[in-house]
Amino acid sequence: MKILVINSGSSSLKFQLFDSSDLTVSASGLIEQIGEEQSSARLTYFDGVGTRQMLKQSEPVAEHRQAIKLMAELLRESGAMIDVRELAGIGHRVVHGGEAFHEPILIDDAVISAIEELIPLAPLHNPANLTGIRVAMDHAGDIPQVAVFDTAFHQSIPEYGYLYALPYKLYEKYNVRRYGFHGTSHSFVSKAAARFLDIPYDRFNCIVLHLGNGASACAVENGKSVDTSMGMTPLAGLVMGTRCGDIDPAITFYLERNTGMDVNRIDDMLNHESGLKGLCGSNDMRELLAAKEQGSKEMALAFDIYCYRLKKYIGAYFAALGRIDALIFTGGIGENAAPVREHACQGLAGLGITINSEKNNQRKERIMEIHQDEAAVKVLVIPTDEEREIAIQVMAVIKGER
Ligand code: AMP
Repeated sequence: MKILVINSGSSSLKFQLFDSSDLTVSASGLIEQIGEEQSSARLTYFDGVGTRQMLKQSEPVAEHRQAIKLMAELLRESGAMIDVRELAGIGHRVVHGGEAFHEPILIDDAVISAIEELIPLAPLHNPANLTGIRVAMDHAGDIPQVAVFDTAFHQSIPEYGYLYALPYKLYEKYNVRRYGFHGTSHSFVSKAAARFLDIPYDRFNCIVLHLGNGASACAVENGKSVDTSMGMTPLAGLVMGTRCGDIDPAITFYLERNTGMDVNRIDDMLNHESGLKGLCGSNDMRELLAAKEQGSKEMALAFDIYCYRLKKYIGAYFAALGRIDALIFTGGIGENAAPVREHACQGLAGLGITINSEKNNQRKERIMEIHQDEAAVKVLVIPTDEEREIAIQVMAVIKGER
């Protein structure tokens, strides 16, 4: 039997097919530019002999309903999955579970309504996630379908960690609080680290830095998230590819009063034109590192700002946790950008964090230890795998373990 994991973004659909017996991947695919003039669909699948690629420069895929049909076509044509009855379960990534969902859950009408009610908190993502769920339910209603929430791992954050110092009634009436995101990734890599270090997860303390185009830090105490840098929305915290991360909230009022930008324009600018891109014109860390090497002052400054913010979060979460077993880097930048890891950890010997440059500059597909031999804190690079974590959670729900 198989497990299908569906991740429907605002203009893309990512999917992965796992064998339910050992969670090996038999196919993975991506349909992009949904709703644009031209869409593209690609599938990588295993045909029993080797890995094959299937590319379909399709006609425009107008919306997610069509994308899901295209996904089913690709899986059928490749032979990766001929019939939906081959599926033991389907997992759906859902961005926002608000306070309603602490755990993955079997989807029924009540769950769909609850996800719908959370749309104001994630106006771009939850509708796309919901369409994916609805179409999959229409086509494969008899197969157990499980929602796995990006926010769920952070529901263990205590009240003093998730409340903002705003009038309390804004929390009561409008749900204004920190939720945090990237929970599936933080959960996956922190569990992998505890296993790797042979420490029981319920006694494991760590700081996870998930550094992709979006980025967030997470403080994990005894296997539970106790703080995270993203807030009510994914705009807060670290410097990201195009998002600003933490800023003085009064900047937005200042801009509105003095620049002629309205609130929607400012919102767009903070989300899509800020972060690394705003600072130096590129949100691609590879480009930034190469230009910095060539002597670009602009790129070097963006790099310093990026790493300084990381260092501040490491310090803050170290203080929140009191002690840590490990500091973990993951995500496209965390896994690949050795200079970022080295620079963010510089000067942290007092906390027991020291990097071995030679180990840091190695490249491995699997878990990498990059701390100095005698260091008190293990510094690990762990490739994240959100789809696999979703498949693991789907299996647990189907087996009644969660
Ligand atoms: P993600 O959102 O996890 O796919 O990560 C995207 C980010 O990872 C982008 O900023 C990429 O430039 C960065 N990235 C990917 N590969 C590398 C690499 N080899 N070196 C440095 N940065 C990388």
